Amino acid sequence: MAANPIVKCTVDRCTHWMTGNQCMAGKISVYNDEHAGESNTKSDTQCKSFYAGNGLGDYVGALHNANISGTIKAAFTDGTQITPSVECYVTGCKHWEQGNYCHASSIEVNGDNASKTIDTDCQTFEIK
Ligand code: SF4
Ligand code: SF4
Repeated sequence: MAANPIVKCTVDRCTHWMTGNQCMAGKISVYNDEHAGESNTKSDTQCKSFYAGNGLGDYVGALHNANISGTIKAAFTDGTQITPSVECYVTGCKHWEQGNYCHASSIEVNGDNASKTIDTDCQTFEIK
């Protein structure tokens, strides 16, 4: 079975963000900077699944990509970490694996005051 890292995320402006720095998306996609088409630093990477939360409608809209069973499980099971599946297109990262997998044991996503996907970064990126 393909590896899947635990996702820790501090992007509290995202509709998928949950208390405890957890991500309740069912799946996230990590991309390169679209103009450069590659990443040389962490800030060139982005979580494409970021969805800016500006109102209640956005939170309802985010439910199509919600890890509902994981969320419910986390709410009732002390210490359980919910985590989305991760696909990653950052082929220049040393954690990247054929098939667009990430073989890091955990990743950290951040982006202070993020309003668009490019404002977010995969902090675990390491150049090959
Ligand atoms: S920015 Fe990405 S990792 Fe963070 S909560 Fe949103 S979808 Fe999840
Ligand atoms: S650590 Fe590397 S391979 Fe894993 S999600 Fe981040 S950029 Fe992609």
